[in-house]
Amino acid sequence: MNKRVRVRFAPSPTGPLHIGGIRTALYNYLFAKKHNGDFILRIEDTDQNRYVPGAEDYIIDSLRWCGLQYNEGVGIGGPHAPYRQSERKHLYKQYADALVEKGFAYYAFDTPDELENIRKQLEAQKITFQYNPATRSSMKNSITLNEAEVKRLLLADTPYVIRIKIPEHEEIIVNDIIRGEVRVHSSLMDDKVLYKSDGMPTYHLANVVDDYLMEISHVIRGEEWLPSAPLHVLLYRYFGWESSMPQFAHLPLLLKPEGNGKLSKRDGDRLGFPVFPLQWTDPKSGEISSGYRESGYFPEAFINMLSLLGWHPETEQEIFTIEELIQVFSLERASKSGAKFDPEKAKWFNHQYLITKSNAELAICLKSILIKKDIHVDDDKIEKICGLIKERANLISDLWNQSDYFFVAPDTYDEKTIKKYWKENTPSLLNELKSLLLSLDDFKKETIETAIHRYIEENGLSMGQVMNSWRLTLVGTAKGPGMADIASILGREEVLARMNKALIELK
Ligand code: GLU
Repeated sequence: MNKRVRVRFAPSPTGPLHIGGIRTALYNYLFAKKHNGDFILRIEDTDQNRYVPGAEDYIIDSLRWCGLQYNEGVGIGGPHAPYRQSERKHLYKQYADALVEKGFAYYAFDTPDELENIRKQLEAQKITFQYNPATRSSMKNSITLNEAEVKRLLLADTPYVIRIKIPEHEEIIVNDIIRGEVRVHSSLMDDKVLYKSDGMPTYHLANVVDDYLMEISHVIRGEEWLPSAPLHVLLYRYFGWESSMPQFAHLPLLLKPEGNGKLSKRDGDRLGFPVFPLQWTDPKSGEISSGYRESGYFPEAFINMLSLLGWHPETEQEIFTIEELIQVFSLERASKSGAKFDPEKAKWFNHQYLITKSNAELAICLKSILIKKDIHVDDDKIEKICGLIKERANLISDLWNQSDYFFVAPDTYDEKTIKKYWKENTPSLLNELKSLLLSLDDFKKETIETAIHRYIEENGLSMGQVMNSWRLTLVGTAKGPGMADIASILGREEVLARMNKALIELK
C-alpha cells in the first residue's frame, strides 16, 4: 500500500529565511497538494547557540505572504504536536539510549579541551581529526572504557555525548528521487554526535526521529543536506525503521547570477536585489536586509519565478498560477544541477503579473504609496493613471516612479532632455501652444490631441520638437505616456502653470 504523502518544511530559526528556503517550502507544498497530502511546518531549534529571536515569526510570516499554507505545524498544531523541536526535547534521549543499548551508538566522555588537543596535534602532521572507526578505539568512550568505569562516570554526572557507531567497511546507499542512487563509503563518514552534553539532540537525531514519528513520506530539502543523508539512512536502519524510511529528494542549489557558487546575501547587496522574501532587521546589529515584499513584488510572481529555479515543466510555458503548478509539478522534473538566479528575470515575472492586474487593483497599490507620502487624490484619477503607466512598471514601487509627475510638479529638469529639445525657438513655440490650450472648449484627451496635431501640421513643425519640449515642462524629463493623456489628467490650470514655471526657469 502506498503511504499517505506527508512532507515537512523544517527550517532552523537561525536568521531570515533565504529565498532558497522558500523554494524548498514551495516544492514541498506543491508536492503535498498534488498528491492530496499534508504539508507540515516543523521548527528545528535544537541548536541553542544559533537561535535568533524573531526568526521563527519571520519564517511563518514569509510562508503566509507566499500563500504556502501548511496544514500541520507550529502555530496551528496537529496530531503530532508539538512541532517545535525545543518543546519535544524530552522525546529524543530515549532514542539515543536505545541505540547505545543495541550497540549502534556509544557514550563519549572526551572533553572539548581533550578533543581540541588531539585536533591540534594531528593538524601539525597535516591530518584532519575525525572521530570514526579508526580513532574511536583510542578515545575516552564506552567502547574503550570498562563497564564499571562507564557506570561510575555516568553516576558522577560526567558530561558526555552520544555518538553513532559508523560501520567499518560498508557502502551506504541513498536512493534520491532527483539524483538516483548515491553511494557513500562508510570510511568517509564519522561518528557524528547524536545527543549533546547540554541535553539536546543534534539536528541528525531530532530530524530522523521526528520524520519517523510524524510519518513523513518524502524528505524534500536542499542539496546542502545530501552529505547528511547516508547518516540518516543508517539511523533508520539502526532504529529498525527501514520499512518506513521516507524517500529523499535533494533539490539543486540556487546559484549566483554569474553562476559560480551558492547565492548569498552578499550577492544581493552587491547587485542590488533582495535574497529574502520579506525585509529583515537583524536583532543584534539593527542592519536591514531588503525583501521581495517591500521591494514591490507580488507574491504570485515571486512564487512563479521561484518555481522554475530548479524545476522545469514539459512545455515552454513560464507563467503559472499556483493551481497550475500543483497540476504539473513533479520531483522527477527537478534538476540535478544548480539554478542560476537572474534578478532581471525576477522583475520580468513581476511585470507579467502586474500588467494582467486591473487598473482598480493597481490603484489600490499606488494609493497606499500615495497615502504614505500624504498625497490624496480621487480613486478614479489614480485608476486612470495606473492604466496609462502599467506597461512601464515592473515592480509595485514603479507605479510611483513612473507616475510621480502626475502628483508633484517637477522642480528640476533633466539636463540631457534640455540639451536635446530646448532650442532657441522653444519658448515662443510653447507660448503659442499655451494660447491654443487656453482656447479649447474642453480639456479632454481627444480634443487636445486633435488641436495639437492640427497646429503642428498647419505650421509645418516637427512633432518631436513640440511634444518633447512640452513634455519637459510637464514631466521634467523624457518619460511617460502620450502628452494628451498626461495633459488631460493634469487639467488645464496645472498644465499652464507648469508651462509658465518652465518658461521662467529654462528661459
Ligand atoms: N533544519 C534543517 C534546515 O535548517 C532541515 C533540513 C532538512 O529538511 O532535513 O534546513
